[in-house]
Amino acid sequence: MRQKWLTVLCTAALLSAFLPPAARAAGTETVPVLVGLVYGSDALDGANLKNDAGSGYRFGYLDTDRNFCPVGETRETGVSVVKTQTVWYGTYNGYTSYSDAVTSDVCVGCWHVQLPLAPATFEEARAAADAAGGFPAWIDGAYQVRTGAYATREEAQAAADAAGGTAAGTSSYGVSVVKTGTAKILFQFDGGAERSLTVQPGTDGTTRPVTWFKGNRYYGAFQYRRVGGGDLTVSNLLPLEDYINCVVSREMSRSWPLEALKAQAVCARTYYEINLGRHNASGFDICSTTHCQAYYGMGETDSRTAQAAAETAGLRVLYNGTPAQTYYFSSSGGGTEDVRNVWGSQPIPYLSGVADPYEAAVSDKISYWSWSETFTAAQLTEKLQAKGYNCASIVDFQITATTPTGNVKSIAFLDANGKSWPFTKEGGVRNLLGLKSMRYTVSASEKTSGGVYYTDGGGTLTSMSGVYAIGGSGAAARITGNPYVITGSGTQFLPAPTGSTSAGENVFTVTGSGWGHSVGMSQWGAYAMAQQGKTFEQILTFYYPGTEIR
Ligand SMILES: [Zn+2]
Repeated sequence: MRQKWLTVLCTAALLSAFLPPAARAAGTETVPVLVGLVYGSDALDGANLKNDAGSGYRFGYLDTDRNFCPVGETRETGVSVVKTQTVWYGTYNGYTSYSDAVTSDVCVGCWHVQLPLAPATFEEARAAADAAGGFPAWIDGAYQVRTGAYATREEAQAAADAAGGTAAGTSSYGVSVVKTGTAKILFQFDGGAERSLTVQPGTDGTTRPVTWFKGNRYYGAFQYRRVGGGDLTVSNLLPLEDYINCVVSREMSRSWPLEALKAQAVCARTYYEINLGRHNASGFDICSTTHCQAYYGMGETDSRTAQAAAETAGLRVLYNGTPAQTYYFSSSGGGTEDVRNVWGSQPIPYLSGVADPYEAAVSDKISYWSWSETFTAAQLTEKLQAKGYNCASIVDFQITATTPTGNVKSIAFLDANGKSWPFTKEGGVRNLLGLKSMRYTVSASEKTSGGVYYTDGGGTLTSMSGVYAIGGSGAAARITGNPYVITGSGTQFLPAPTGSTSAGENVFTVTGSGWGHSVGMSQWGAYAMAQQGKTFEQILTFYYPGTEIR
């Protein structure tokens, strides 16, 4: 009988009520997304929620289609969910199961007195609990009325003997909902390993709820899963297009042209699909870090970011019919890059580099359109040695190859022993020196103080200043940079000067454009293309050549 009652209530109505109207009209409602917020070694003893918009919370669980099945509610606006093993509350530690709980801490779990009542509904259980000074519980489908909180079964049994009840706890999957900042239990839930407590903020059904969790605001509901009976894994449950809206608002300014926002929405949706299933063992679809896709709740969403999600609802970037790896980055500076030259992967046709003629038109808006960094030879030496390269003092820094789209493909440092230290791909050409992009040139200049010198039988040159070399054609050229000589045993750099380590060293100026890894869509390029009248489909198929959007 109770099961039937629950089935009737397990509908998608609560969630679909908050879908953007365009998504509903287009018939693109999908199973809501579970985004992992806290999991693994970060799983919590206790997790707080605070209403921002909307008031109170419904308690329930998800059926296999992720419909919300309500089993209780509270009018409190700040609640904390704690696991039902021995957990204490104190002003010093908050909710903790640590053994160092201080004597002023109050026990929250996990033993209680269960009264000999059999309420049929949550309302009956709550009324009886209020009368007894206890709390309603939902234990494997049956309502109970419980009172007190004791650290041991013996204490609970003694209290139960006096009150006429039984000592009761939960399985290792149970959770209690308490009023935040207190040890007052509002509700207890134990659905075993299969059913995890899901908290749906807002009880009046009129306001779209927004809820604070760990410093960010979220749409949707929260699931508390005790994976393997452990600490709380917290996931956010919300419609896919709300999630896309949130990711877009984090990745682009909502003031940007709508077609750029739409291109970002399609990227985010495709990226979501690519990453689906990586966290099945933890019970959610996708995590909230860059491991899958960065997500911090509603962020700066507004009607425009919601419009970008709704007007592209269900669309993805496909290559040969399967979702593409829609990498994106801030600014190409004039050309994106083939993924092979950046991360060394196998060739991926839609991640080939493209010359980018669009960004330049908005270069005044891109603060890193033009950037430069200066390194002394000593700084370069230090950076290489700090990363474990056993090099001598670096005396030269050269770009040894560029790519067809004009980015740096490889660089080499030369040390004072004449040894070359070559680097390729993003890790070497960009990250080694912490450069903003792979798109740059290098120029060397000699510090005016000091100078290289060498001895040549007849005397010593104290500086290269004013020294010229005569080439095979007879033309003379001034020698700059770090000259080297070719001897019978090979190429040698002129010895570095002794004494002051900075005397005579070269200074290398790296002048570049753009910011990011250069693979896939340039966000500033999308901005520029949208401003120039291109659609989101045109933007995406430009940066992911050979793909289709559907
Ligand atoms: Zn992940």
